[in-house]
Amino acid sequence: MKHQPHCLLCFLDDDFQADLRLAAQNLSPRHERALEVYALRFEATLDKLESVSKCPIHQLKDASDKDNEHFTWWIDEVLKAVRSSHYQQVFAEMRKAYIASITGRFGESFSVVEKLMLDLGIDQPRSDRLDKVLYFRGRKGRFGREDLYHIPFTKRHCISNQRYSVTGQPLLYLGLSILDVAFELGADPQAIDDYSFNTYFLKDANAVRVLDLGNSLFQILRNNVVGLAREGMDLKGMATKGTVDPPGAKNDVDAFIRFTIAATCSFRRRSVTTLDAFAPEYVLPQTLAHWARQAKFDGILYTSTRVDTRKWRVQKGLKLNRYLENIAFFTDYDPSSDADHDLKLLQQFEISPPIQISDIKNVADEVMDAHRIEVAKDGKSNSLTHIGQRAGYDLDAAFGDLVHVDEYGNETPYAETKPGRLQRYLQFLFLMSRLVEY
Ligand SMILES: [Zn+2]
Repeated sequence: MKHQPHCLLCFLDDDFQADLRLAAQNLSPRHERALEVYALRFEATLDKLESVSKCPIHQLKDASDKDNEHFTWWIDEVLKAVRSSHYQQVFAEMRKAYIASITGRFGESFSVVEKLMLDLGIDQPRSDRLDKVLYFRGRKGRFGREDLYHIPFTKRHCISNQRYSVTGQPLLYLGLSILDVAFELGADPQAIDDYSFNTYFLKDANAVRVLDLGNSLFQILRNNVVGLAREGMDLKGMATKGTVDPPGAKNDVDAFIRFTIAATCSFRRRSVTTLDAFAPEYVLPQTLAHWARQAKFDGILYTSTRVDTRKWRVQKGLKLNRYLENIAFFTDYDPSSDADHDLKLLQQFEISPPIQISDIKNVADEVMDAHRIEVAKDGKSNSLTHIGQRAGYDLDAAFGDLVHVDEYGNETPYAETKPGRLQRYLQFLFLMSRLVEY
């Protein structure tokens, strides 16, 4: 392990968890044992965490170098709440489901997952993180809008075994950053001149139910709570008066449980050769996806395991991992229809025309900033997430400290790299067309 985590935020960090999983895999070639080792270490590490005020990476100081008490109080309250949650049940039951599946008891495996999800109430909530969030899609070549739809039903034979889908099932894959999309396409993000990218924006996020296996707790704490604490907002007062949900309330615990479920589904595929057919690491995510479809979810939001986080990483204390997030929407197939695509699904999005690097014009940052400030001031919302998103933190701040590190250790801000420039320009076009509605 590169470093021991100090506080809850260190612990929730995707890179730390990926290391923890890798270490467990290295100890055991059998996946069910790796799952067990990971669960034990997860608990041992969580028990040892300290107050965020003692964390050299995540502590937040005021202008006068005093500990920001609102921030510390908030994070430490969440830590208390997640420690006493039922996360060990997730590890135990998911392991049981895995063993049932590799023993050929598929129905039982599905039932174990189904019962666990119902027990935990995972079938209930819908993710509010889809609101006003912009997703990206890409493809190699110069293409029009319709060419960036999902793989047509007539090309099922091209669809391989994926983490959240079995072979032959077309899904609509979207990414939260151009960087992530490039990695998912198997492209070098620095060599995407001949790729086309566009944006997908849900017209009515309320009409869509997505199983959120992204790291939403970390995002809320590192994005919205930090942002609002820095602006000097009275978080304690807001929570006491009931203006916002207090830290460690049901939403936070639910997000932590989903984080634990995602952890069991995010083990990297280890030996991949052309001869490998079966991936033990995909058993749980595919079973979960199967359940999600049955439970009438429209898709799954998850963290990419393909982005090279050594070369593309977030510097400074502020570390946000949304640039790693993907969403896979299930497609519905109507055997009596001749359509090549799930048009009902596609019609739920506003889909922008694709652009290439050569189409980019200068982006006016000041205009975007002005919008954000106006929206944040207007605070007509009782959810921190919603205020943060309406203010556009998710659109921009999430990528502010992301850098590319070359082989000599030189750092280039994401916004100046090819994927970053494309993303900023697509965001600019989006902000101009949408944010003015507020
Ligand atoms: Zn920390």
